[in-house]
Amino acid sequence: MKRILICPVCKSNEIELDTGGYTGKYYCKRCGYVGSFIIELNESEYKELLKAGELEKFVEEKAKNVPKEEKKPEKYPY
Ligand SMILES: [Zn+2]
Repeated sequence: MKRILICPVCKSNEIELDTGGYTGKYYCKRCGYVGSFIIELNESEYKELLKAGELEKFVEEKAKNVPKEEKKPEKYPY
């Protein structure tokens, strides 16, 4: 089953692993988002959501779970 990766910011599926997977982060080709948080679906889930018109809602719900430190680190360990 093919995996579909969705950007939590712009909801596109044009996602690549950042720098060849070296950092373990994802890169969105559409909006430039870089982060370890990404929404992952399998192909049938993706098609179901798309067909039902629920994809945006689903992604927004998931995006609420983005850890805050992912967006803006408050303190550094040094
Ligand atoms: Zn994006």
